[in-house]
Amino acid sequence: MRVAKVWIEHPVLQLDQVYSYDALQLPAEKGKRVIVDFNGRQIVGFVDEVAEVEDPAKTLAKGRPLKPILAVLDENALITPELFDLAKWMAKDTLSPVISCFQAMLPSKLKPKSSNQKIKMEQIAVYVADHPHLTPRQKEVLDWLKQQGPTGLSLWRKQSPAITRTLEKLGCVRLDSRTVKASVPQAAQAEAFLPLNADQQRVVHEIETSSKAVMLLHGVTGSGKTEVYLHLARQVLNQGKQVLILVPEISLTPQMVARVKGRFPTEVAIYHSALNNQQKYEQYCRVFEKQASIVVGTRSAVFMPFDHLGLIILDEEHDSSYKQDSLPQYHCRDIAIHRAQYFGCKVILGSATPSLESYARALKGVYGLTELKERVNRQLPVCTVVDMKNQSRSQSGILSDELKQKIAERLDRKEQVILLLNRRGYSPLIKCGQCGETLQCPHCDVALSYHKSINKMKCHLCGSEYPLITVCPKCGSRTFAAPGYGTQKLEEEVARLFPQARILRMDADTTSRKQAHQTLLEQFGHHEADILVGTQMIAKGLDYPQVTLVGILNADAGTARPDFRSVEMTFDLIMQAAGRSGRSSTPGEVIIQAFDPNHFAVAAGSQQDYSGFFYQEMQYRHLGGYPPYTYLIALTFSDSHPERPKQSAQWFAQALRQTDAFKVLGPSDLFKLQDRYRSRLVLKSKNLDQMKAVLSQVLEEYRSQRAQAHLSIDVNPLILD
Ligand code: ADP
Ligand code: ZN
Ligand code: ZN
Repeated sequence: MRVAKVWIEHPVLQLDQVYSYDALQLPAEKGKRVIVDFNGRQIVGFVDEVAEVEDPAKTLAKGRPLKPILAVLDENALITPELFDLAKWMAKDTLSPVISCFQAMLPSKLKPKSSNQKIKMEQIAVYVADHPHLTPRQKEVLDWLKQQGPTGLSLWRKQSPAITRTLEKLGCVRLDSRTVKASVPQAAQAEAFLPLNADQQRVVHEIETSSKAVMLLHGVTGSGKTEVYLHLARQVLNQGKQVLILVPEISLTPQMVARVKGRFPTEVAIYHSALNNQQKYEQYCRVFEKQASIVVGTRSAVFMPFDHLGLIILDEEHDSSYKQDSLPQYHCRDIAIHRAQYFGCKVILGSATPSLESYARALKGVYGLTELKERVNRQLPVCTVVDMKNQSRSQSGILSDELKQKIAERLDRKEQVILLLNRRGYSPLIKCGQCGETLQCPHCDVALSYHKSINKMKCHLCGSEYPLITVCPKCGSRTFAAPGYGTQKLEEEVARLFPQARILRMDADTTSRKQAHQTLLEQFGHHEADILVGTQMIAKGLDYPQVTLVGILNADAGTARPDFRSVEMTFDLIMQAAGRSGRSSTPGEVIIQAFDPNHFAVAAGSQQDYSGFFYQEMQYRHLGGYPPYTYLIALTFSDSHPERPKQSAQWFAQALRQTDAFKVLGPSDLFKLQDRYRSRLVLKSKNLDQMKAVLSQVLEEYRSQRAQAHLSIDVNPLILD
């Protein structure tokens, strides 16, 4: 008997094991999706091992014969054996169910999920055989198909509806169906490779000759890292191997994509979250069928089905979007390094502000380190910090005099300006003018932001919108204040001060439509606007030669967050935003507005001093026992019942504290999110493997119990606020 082990996702139960099914009748094979019956429910599963089993005892489940597989959904395995093993490794690494890892890997059309989507199919005509008694015209049409190969039905019919039908009847041609072929991507404008400067050549040489598999390329903004990536990619492609280039966010992708396509016109696959499901599926197939040898993409592109990968580049390696914040909570960097080991290829981690973890590893020699200390144009922008405490109260308090004056100068000189404010909406809260009550989201326990353009209040956590209220629910007053400011108010203020300026705003509210990012960036790139206002979206990667002034507003606001990484993130944001200024021949300037100008993240950021920041922040991490000196695992318990998360967390903490092998912090209550109450434990240790091993045991016991809160596990969490 043939027995298939099948991974399944149950809509309710959190299962993490294979189930045996009878695979005698159908061609179930490893890596294909199947439909099986599970407790009377038809569920999509993913096939693991299939084996001949002689022992009749093993063909029984609980004394009954194995149920048959009901249908096989795929003609061929969806993933390579390497990806199959990767999913299992990833499940252990992130303490997630194996099936969730398969799902994370595959484009949604192929995900083994209970709610399955259809793949678009097209009908085709396929040549079968010649026939002795054909008219010359019939023979002509048949020969055409023979030459053409399998052809879409409408094109086939166009040859002659009557003749094509006759040929089918005679058995010379058969109709079949296939998945819709990938749309051929448009070629970009061809671009020449720039000759590398001496620094870039040194870096390429260091990378190529290093014995380390993982190389950290620490290069200041505008030092020509992208050019280095492209040269390395060309070498690898010339050896007939594949290249993967990972970028953090879709807003960054247009420029990187244009550059890569310009250099390597025909063979680029693009993979990011803004593609629709069919497009993602097509790109996945292009790599599977070896039609594309370079992939440029965001986080999930790390799972593309390569078979002879020669290089992985992870640009802006410090960026938090490389971490997935839902199950399975993997980090793209870990997956990239693991896959590179399998292929024996190099990983380049590039950044102007490497994560503390990566830089510490490079200093220890775990990774190789190579650096570009100067910009290609040899000039870093001049930064000025403005103390906002000293700005006179009579002003709106948004733009300092210094910044206003510099903006006016840029407008006169027809240069461009970027203004960064990491908060969207009009104002971050609405307050009763009488009693001071702030309006909160009823689902999330956080303040609602005011959005003037739609005249509504919005929750930035769950996205729900509410009409403005006119009467305070607490005291009945009718006066409200909207203190503070977000990008909408900033845009309004800039328009008021500079009525002649053309202004674009880029934040989550202006980019929700498809292609909106690209349109905005193109407009700014073609100098159809003078000032770009936006959130952290505009801080990274953009390379616009006309930008000679960057203003960073409320630069130190992030340091108030309780998260242990908030200072690092503040520093990164200042460095990255400053890096957008003066990238071409005209020197750039940066104005940093802060309430605490002496904060070391602001001071080091304004001096573009990465290593100064690194050593200082490492001291704090050391004192607090935080990464990279320790490893953390966050356990978040959530439930619609207010008491249950805490009770579950207490049970779990008790079970973990039996061991004494590591620290268990908490439980601490988190704010309610989308009507779910939450409680969190944080585990801390220098030995991650041991911590995971103990946790897995307790987890098994936890999952076997009833009425427990939902538990999500985050190994090496990025954010803990
Ligand atoms: P980074 O990725 O480090 O921020 P980029 O690769 O975007 O830097 O390079 C910054 C600017 O310098 C770009 O406009 C790029 O075209 C230009 N540049 C990079 N390398 C060279 C080179 N070797 N010769 C001339 N210009 C270069
Ligand atoms: Zn009130
Ligand atoms: Zn909410």
